[in-house]
Amino acid sequence: DCVRVELGERAYEVRIGQGLIARAGDHMAPLLRRPQVAILTDETVAALHLAPFQQALSAAGIASSALALPAGEATKGWPQFARAVEWLLEQKVERRDMVVALGGGVIGDLAGFAAAVLRRGVRFVQVPTTLLAQVDSSVGGKTGINTAQGKNLVGAFHQPSLVLADIDVLDTLPARDFLAGYGEVVKYGLLGDAAFYDWLEDAGPRLAHDPEARQRAVRRSVEMKAEIVARDETEEGDRALLNLGHTFCHALEKATGYSDRLLHGEGVAIGCALAFELSQRMGLCAQEAPSRLRAHLRAMGMKVDLRDIPGDLPDAEGLLALMAQDKKVMDGRLRFILARGIGSAFVAEDVPPDAVRTVLSEALALR
Ligand code: NAD
Ligand code: ZN
Repeated sequence: DCVRVELGERAYEVRIGQGLIARAGDHMAPLLRRPQVAILTDETVAALHLAPFQQALSAAGIASSALALPAGEATKGWPQFARAVEWLLEQKVERRDMVVALGGGVIGDLAGFAAAVLRRGVRFVQVPTTLLAQVDSSVGGKTGINTAQGKNLVGAFHQPSLVLADIDVLDTLPARDFLAGYGEVVKYGLLGDAAFYDWLEDAGPRLAHDPEARQRAVRRSVEMKAEIVARDETEEGDRALLNLGHTFCHALEKATGYSDRLLHGEGVAIGCALAFELSQRMGLCAQEAPSRLRAHLRAMGMKVDLRDIPGDLPDAEGLLALMAQDKKVMDGRLRFILARGIGSAFVAEDVPPDAVRTVLSEALALR
């Protein structure tokens, strides 16, 4: 299974399937100018998947060296970034060489950014190992790191040369991370494909153990992301649709300090439910849509509303203030992705703060 991201000279393939890691050497060999790669990964992924990956490379005659960074979001900052870049230089990675990102979105974003700046840009391959990374972060070329000022504030658009999404690696992913990734999967149905959403309502609970269903879910998600990115690589317009649920999510992530209390994908699912609530309240979409979504997320065992987030949260005014800091907000105008129904999202400028305030107050009142 293969999805092409149509970006002219920078076009590339996302290959999706089982057992791809075991044949990684065959997939990568045609791209290499010399049979040698440098791999960035994290310690958790290294313990589970690095040895088979390197064996597959060496079976195809490709030599490799690897650096495993600590697992977790804290790695996505200057210190580990500097360490990764210096290590790549020590490995004598040259202009025409290939860097490999083996891991979740943290490694993909950091390694992609390292590849973007190393010798003014070297090519890289994404081998995403979380559901979130397979359906979202490995595709589209956004790379970067966090700074003291906030998340993803420093980075580059740098498209990979190939993405290898081996759905078997997700077998070792903790259930909570799998469900968080599912938050982004469901987002694709909600934003642009009602038939996919209908199918997910039925198939969602099977994705954790049914490879065929999982492959279809990853494939359709990647197709949608690829199509939107091809239309609008640098987010001048339509790419913003991918931010459905994210304005709420970013405020909640800030409020919970990017901690274990709320994973990104969990915040996306809650944010989508709030975006549908807001759409309904503004008279844009039917009454049933938000409750139907919440019922599905519940059935998946996911966090659905604000009461599912442990610990204290700011009040509605506080959350609104956090949203006003979001980079998607321009000149104090609240910009949201809203929906006319399941599968039809659109970019809404100038959303009345009162409507948002009401939705937040009601959601907080349930806590
Ligand atoms: P992550 O990379 O931290 O992975 C989550 C956890 O799962 C980590 O502890 C990791 O070690 C572990 N793990 C990874 N693969 C595993 C496997 N196969 N088996 C067992 N454990 C495994 O987090 P994530 O959720 O993949 O990505 C989140 C990051 O992605 C954030 O930094 C976010 O900003 C970024 N992101 C980027 C984009 C983009 O377009 N570039 C889009 C969405 C998210
Ligand atoms: Zn997201």
